[in-house]
Amino acid sequence: MYSNMFDTHAHYTDRAFDADREELLAELQEKGVSLVMLAGCSTQDSAACAALANRYDYIYAAAGVHPECVDELPENWLAEIRRIAETEPKVRAIGEIGLDYHYDGYDAEKQKAVFTAQLELAQELDLPVILHVRDAIGDAMEILRKYRPRGVMHCYSGSAETAKEILSLGLHISFTGVLTFKNARKALEVLELLPPERFMLETDCPYMAPVPFRGKRCDSSMIAHTAEKAAEIMGMDTQQLIDRCCENGKKLFGI
Ligand SMILES: [Zn+2]
Repeated sequence: MYSNMFDTHAHYTDRAFDADREELLAELQEKGVSLVMLAGCSTQDSAACAALANRYDYIYAAAGVHPECVDELPENWLAEIRRIAETEPKVRAIGEIGLDYHYDGYDAEKQKAVFTAQLELAQELDLPVILHVRDAIGDAMEILRKYRPRGVMHCYSGSAETAKEILSLGLHISFTGVLTFKNARKALEVLELLPPERFMLETDCPYMAPVPFRGKRCDSSMIAHTAEKAAEIMGMDTQQLIDRCCENGKKLFGI
């Protein structure tokens, strides 16, 4: 049993938690979870994340529009994200934002416009960003080189080569339960070169449950299994790694 686990990326507003959200969130701290950062996906979801964070001392939130949500944007979306980020006391980041070209029919130009508008907002409000990039690392890096935000690349799935460039921009890299999957070779290579002060743990729950819970609904307590795998690869004591990640997250998000 570990203590001090900071889940730096969770989605407790997801429907998957509707049946038992309150019970689950009331018990997480007893299971060793000390902090949770909720990632916003749309204007509506960002408002819901902020409201949920207001009800629990240990929960914080980010406000942002996910690249997969750019098709249903309300006209005032940017003003709304700004309002949430400026007025909600538990909001400590803009996210999750980025580019996602995974599914056919995506609009790259729209995604880039929404992404850069939010990078500018983060810069103006002096907030870190939570980055979501899938199958779009080339375009994303071009934009990141230009804006150089403070923040974290979440659920990183790219090469060791690209990870080096992400680190050189000053960004953090975080990993989900994917680390524990059999096909995690690329992620493990990245871990080997990752300085502990740039590493963060996350679940992306309800998705990405680590082995031995793979395929089940994930929650923040399962981060222990991801931490054990990461500590093994990085040659660290698991609790020490968890403490380190907690410090990194607190510093980045100003908690
Ligand atoms: Zn997410």
